[in-house]
Amino acid sequence: MTGPGRGGNRATDAATLAGQGFRTVFGHELVGELPAFVHRPYLVVTMADLWPRFEDRLAGPHLAGVHLVDTLELAELVELETTLPRAAAIVGLGGGQALDVAKFLAWTRRLPLFQVPTATTVNAPFGHRAGLRDQGRVRYLGWAIPEAVYIDFEVIGSAPPNLNRSGVGDVLCYHTARWDWQLADRLGRTEARWPYDQRLVDDAATVMESVVDALDEIREGSEAGIRALVNGHRWGGTTFHDSGWNPRHIEGVDHFLFYNLERITGRHFIHGQPVGLGIVAGSLLQDNEPDRMAAAMARAGVDIRPEAMGVTWDDVEEALRTLRAYVRQAGLWFTVADTVSVTDEHVARLRELVEATFAREATA
Ligand SMILES: [Zn+2]
Repeated sequence: MTGPGRGGNRATDAATLAGQGFRTVFGHELVGELPAFVHRPYLVVTMADLWPRFEDRLAGPHLAGVHLVDTLELAELVELETTLPRAAAIVGLGGGQALDVAKFLAWTRRLPLFQVPTATTVNAPFGHRAGLRDQGRVRYLGWAIPEAVYIDFEVIGSAPPNLNRSGVGDVLCYHTARWDWQLADRLGRTEARWPYDQRLVDDAATVMESVVDALDEIREGSEAGIRALVNGHRWGGTTFHDSGWNPRHIEGVDHFLFYNLERITGRHFIHGQPVGLGIVAGSLLQDNEPDRMAAAMARAGVDIRPEAMGVTWDDVEEALRTLRAYVRQAGLWFTVADTVSVTDEHVARLRELVEATFAREATA
């Protein structure tokens, strides 16, 4: 049962919620149309490995220039902006980094922004602020509402499948996030600025279940799968702002474990893998359907075994055991990490569950 009080079926409800997010166009051969309607001349913000694939469709008399992203560092971007050619619009083309820098430039120059994600890895295309680095620390800065986000099925379809599939992490994490918020509410530990809101929790459940329903399609990379996952991101990106910059219903212990694993190992991850492991570890600490969440990640084809992301079980164990100290030091919000002490049994059960689930997957 999801979305109580709301009639109709889950997919319709989820689509209505997604409609609260940025204007999004799904279709074919969308990149080639951009020169016909984007304000001229336009500046394309993309990545060095992507530009050769799209150059023929975007080059021409109306291209003001191309910026190939090589830094997310704020001070460098501020300086970079002054060196870029004058333009009447910004086109962001790529994954999270290119789209975030495109947002930053559109914000700085107050220009219309057109976003073209090349994979469904994260919800970055659908958030107002750019995820940048300020002296190495992550900062979500600025304000950009794109004219539209263009989801070109061929473009998404040509991305590595694991990049696309791993986008489920940024939606399935609502499972652990909601539980954390309920826990905080029960214990009187919600933050004053984020009082518990059942309506937001219900909406997050509706959106998440619509993605759970589409896991096979997402794994396959079908149009229906791309649509379901992108609509999940679309709501997730906008609800953070629309609820008053409140992450409570969409992020919790799931992401905290990932941040801590990143801190410990210094690795650069495909976002959905460590977040997916965080969802399973978090739901295990919560005693909140860990088996179901492990099965969901496996079904989507997102391998959350440490070895699949270049770390070890020892790293994961350290991330779990230091999680409480880490979240307090980082000033993160109240979650199961604050109430449940990680035991040897938790660590063993997590490993057992993840290995069993993915061993089954490998032989299926
Ligand atoms: Zn995320």
